[in-house]
Amino acid sequence: MLLFFASLTLPVFGQTSLSNIRTDLEYLASDELKGRKTGSPEALESAKYIARQFEDIGLLSPSIAKNYLHEFTLVKSENTIRNLTLNDLDISPVDFLVLFSSKMVKVSDPDKFQLIIIGENDDFMEKFSEVNGLDQSFMVIVHPIHKNRFLRLKNYLTRPRFSLGSKSDKFSVWVLSGEESIDNINLYAVNKIEEVKGYNVIGVLPADEATSRIWMYSAHYDHLGYLPVVNGDSIANGADDDASGTVAVIELARIFAKEKTSDKSLWFVAFDAEELGLFGSQALAEKLRSENLEGVINIEMIGKPNDDIGYTSAYISGYDLSYWPDKMAQSIPLEEFMFFPDPYPQMNLFMRSDNASFVKYGIAAHSISTYSENDETYHQVNDEIDNIDFVNMKTVIDAIYQASIPLLQFDYDPGKIDYQTKTDR
Ligand SMILES: [Zn+2]
Repeated sequence: MLLFFASLTLPVFGQTSLSNIRTDLEYLASDELKGRKTGSPEALESAKYIARQFEDIGLLSPSIAKNYLHEFTLVKSENTIRNLTLNDLDISPVDFLVLFSSKMVKVSDPDKFQLIIIGENDDFMEKFSEVNGLDQSFMVIVHPIHKNRFLRLKNYLTRPRFSLGSKSDKFSVWVLSGEESIDNINLYAVNKIEEVKGYNVIGVLPADEATSRIWMYSAHYDHLGYLPVVNGDSIANGADDDASGTVAVIELARIFAKEKTSDKSLWFVAFDAEELGLFGSQALAEKLRSENLEGVINIEMIGKPNDDIGYTSAYISGYDLSYWPDKMAQSIPLEEFMFFPDPYPQMNLFMRSDNASFVKYGIAAHSISTYSENDETYHQVNDEIDNIDFVNMKTVIDAIYQASIPLLQFDYDPGKIDYQTKTDR
């Protein structure tokens, strides 16, 4: 009798399909897509694949998208010409760099920017952190004693820069010099400017009863393209980062479309240009800021069990900054699955994935992940499908589905995130 009863009970856990998950991931992480780099034909192919899944599922394309693709423009700028004289001294281009996103910068007035000196006896990193977060043009003069630090920074900063099409005439200059004040300056620099198209993929599952309340499940599908060759391989497949999250979003859309377990409208989103600086999510967050978007469940790297918290578990970044992470943790029996607070707060993962773009508008947006601190495949060519633990990954997606249902009920409110005070960590 009991057995008979049990077989009549619908399973509450484990509705996802291992074969769907595998099929989607095999395609998105394939060499054919050449690392899904934003702006490449293969990134667009990836986007169209996701759009086809959304269409098959029966999701709607929102008005800001065309056939599920929300297009945005990135401006890519690369410094080509730079000349600097400082206190009548010609500075060699090797000893300075200029960062700006407009076409040209021309400066001859020292009052037009803030000056920061990193002197002989200063702590480089301490001074460097002062510069972070400055919202105006500035020049940093670095004493030659810090030459190695300066060169490393220069290496890192002189890659092409991307911005979201917004016009800004701000600039920053880093100079290796013993000067400690500016009597006169002449700076002239030119950028090569190029436009790159990005595409977020968006599918909407409207609630049965009309409501303005929205929840979002998201992940980024873009990755790094090609990297330097290691053992004959140069394609950064990004199987875990973040094809795994993208596949989860598609599979969640399939279940929700079938089960209709939400009172609120659901947006399923695959972001582009995350790796270049969270640009796809920024472009969408700007569009949605006046909508009634209550929460964002972003999924970032769930393809491998975490070294520190183990199997059948995941962690949620910024756990205590809104109410839903803990609500999710409590909505699933511990013996089935555990949601933990982020074990690596020092890495600031909360502000390093697409959820951050929504946090800026106070939205309860967090990322769910199983990424391990010492993951040696992170941003390497061997982030391949062979390393994916499909059984554990399926468990994570099942848990996200089941544990997030309570958030989608009519009476649930996750609260807002106080961006200014709470995220200063
Ligand atoms: Zn990622």
